[in-house]
Amino acid sequence: MICFRTSQHLNAYIAQAHGFGRLIGFVPTMGALHQGHLSLLGQAQQQGGLTVCSIFVNPTQFNDPADFEKYPVHLEQDIYLLAKHGLDILFLPSVAQLYPEGLSHLEHYELGYLEQILEGSSRPGHFQGVCQVMHRLLSLVQPDHLFMGQKDFQQCLVVRQLIDQAYPRVALHTCPTLREPDGLAMSSRNARLDASDRKQAAAIYQALQQLQQRLQPGGLSAILEQAKDFLESQGFRVDYVQIADAATLRLVDRWDGKEKLVALVAAFLDGIRLIDNLLLNP
Ligand code: AMP
Repeated sequence: MICFRTSQHLNAYIAQAHGFGRLIGFVPTMGALHQGHLSLLGQAQQQGGLTVCSIFVNPTQFNDPADFEKYPVHLEQDIYLLAKHGLDILFLPSVAQLYPEGLSHLEHYELGYLEQILEGSSRPGHFQGVCQVMHRLLSLVQPDHLFMGQKDFQQCLVVRQLIDQAYPRVALHTCPTLREPDGLAMSSRNARLDASDRKQAAAIYQALQQLQQRLQPGGLSAILEQAKDFLESQGFRVDYVQIADAATLRLVDRWDGKEKLVALVAAFLDGIRLIDNLLLNP
């Protein structure tokens, strides 16, 4: 595994790889790696090209400074895991490398509806930060294939929009969510849960499964209310529980029995914000 800390060296290496006709598969992360991240690397490796992974805790996508401060950093363990799993190239940029112009007055992306709902409305500026960092990473890594997790469902749609506009050559692969045995979606933030919250946290997946089981054509507000009540009874402060069109993320309150749907949850346990989603009728 080769590790680059500067854009110039990474860029030169990538240009050479492209010159040799090698395809590049890219997995961007914020580190504190778990099996979910490694499954994205596994999918990238199946493509057979050069695999590139980045670890960068992107300050511009944290709308809550305390969340940024507390974001877990396990760099040595991450490097060990990636080397053990056969990654080719690790990119470890600094903030100054990716944002040489500083962090204020950054470019603005027109994301329309996607920025007004769910994660967009709950975390103002979050998707601007996602686009700012992804734009920089994609222009440096120039991947043929990009691997991202369905766990961050709305992020995948936002990045698809960025790719369609600026990087039409890149194939985006949305990879399934890896879960703990009790159903909790793997997440770097799970490490911050204490033992009792960790037990409660599985209720998010249970709420999503209940929505799937209760789904019937017609109005959806009653089952959404039940899911919210269930999560509150399990100690959560619910940010949102919604059902949306799986392709556009338009919120759906009445189902015609055909439209492909996704249920999405964001909820806090002792101040730690967890998100998850489930395709209801894939
Ligand atoms: P993060 O480090 O949280 O920014 O995540 C990096 C990538 O890993 C993103 O594309 C996430 O959607 C993806 N990811 C995070 N958790 C999981 C999971 N449990 N299963 C699969 N992919 C995941």
